[in-house]
Amino acid sequence: MTDQLTNRLFDFIESSPTAFHTINAVRAMLLHAGFTELSETEPWVLEAGGGYFTTRNMSSLIAFRCPKKDFASFSAVAPHGDSPCFKVKGSPEMKAGDGKYTKLNTEVYGGMTLNLWLDRPLSVAGRLALRTEAGLRMQLVDLHRDLLVIPSLAIHMNREANNGSKTDPQRDTLPLLGTGEADLLAMLAEHVGAKKVDVLSHELYLYNRQRGTVYGAGEELIAAPKLDDLECAFSAVTAFLQSENPENCTVCAIFDNEETGSATRQGAGATFLLDVTSRICQWAGKDEEGRIRAIQRGMLLSADNAHAVHPNYPDKADPTSRCYLNGGVVVKHSTRYATDASTAALFKLICEKAGVPTQDYYNNSSAPGGGTLGLISGSQAAFPTVDIGLAQLAMHSPYETGGREDLRHMIDAMTAFYRSVFAWEGNACRLG
Ligand code: ZN
Repeated sequence: MTDQLTNRLFDFIESSPTAFHTINAVRAMLLHAGFTELSETEPWVLEAGGGYFTTRNMSSLIAFRCPKKDFASFSAVAPHGDSPCFKVKGSPEMKAGDGKYTKLNTEVYGGMTLNLWLDRPLSVAGRLALRTEAGLRMQLVDLHRDLLVIPSLAIHMNREANNGSKTDPQRDTLPLLGTGEADLLAMLAEHVGAKKVDVLSHELYLYNRQRGTVYGAGEELIAAPKLDDLECAFSAVTAFLQSENPENCTVCAIFDNEETGSATRQGAGATFLLDVTSRICQWAGKDEEGRIRAIQRGMLLSADNAHAVHPNYPDKADPTSRCYLNGGVVVKHSTRYATDASTAALFKLICEKAGVPTQDYYNNSSAPGGGTLGLISGSQAAFPTVDIGLAQLAMHSPYETGGREDLRHMIDAMTAFYRSVFAWEGNACRLG
């Protein structure tokens, strides 16, 4: 039996086949809650107590709520909305197999185990740049049906398949579109009521259509696409919407392109968070010193999932700091994370007061894990930052496993953080 909260997570994941759709799903949640949408290209008119959000490139979003003009600092949470997948190239149709098949030309987005994508129904979603009478406009598109499969090579023709064969992304993972003539852009244009000739450009991705599920003897596990990092994104928005803070401006930032290094203008390495917090400070009448103080007194939770101890490879985890499914919110430590003793301690104190379990993650020194956006974001808006996440298995697979209880743990932890009145004062921190 899937409970209501887990079902809402699965619905959110289904609504988010690409980073554009993730932001669209969050946007709908914010509008439903009465938030006002702001454009980065227009002047902002803000009011104390109001709820606002803005997007960049349709694929990153920052929402905020300011209790009063003389607010003390920022309480921010930042997950990412993109996931590793295949991206469709330009002029993608390719004739293959004596001209009997049409397949699609794709490239790899992010780091993933390529052959896990084989032999499962896939669809296409993304955005189209459409010509209009006034110029152009960007249009979301999601075909929402089983359209493609990347067929594997039968074991009879690949006897080495179980002995670690190589996967070539230009040969082994191109998906089959059909046995006749097929024109993907024409299909997508028709799907949104446009003509193919008016599609000036596109960003299109393959996605796994399989819905999330609850499994395990005690129904204590979940499996779904994109748990990294939509589990944290869903938790952040849910916690943000149900929290108010009397002193701090609460911020929920969902960034694109974490999986490819965060270096785009909408990624955590760009000025988006700095620009938004600067504009809030400007509205509040804070001078440059006031802006710096508000950032240094605040805190950022960089929220991205972590590796649980694997049942078949327990030796891959660190010998002493080991994380488990349903073990609570993970505090991540390594030189590729922004966590330090002070930010880890404050976060754990907040969780302890809220009754939320936490666990510490360190890398096994022989197998350094990936980095995330916390350190990168800090080079622009240098908040005291802690890297957190939920323990999961099969990270970057098209179908990942997590602990069912952990979703509640993360929402509770983020809610407690958003509601906490804290103040960094030099090397000490008051927690009310
Ligand atoms: Zn991630």
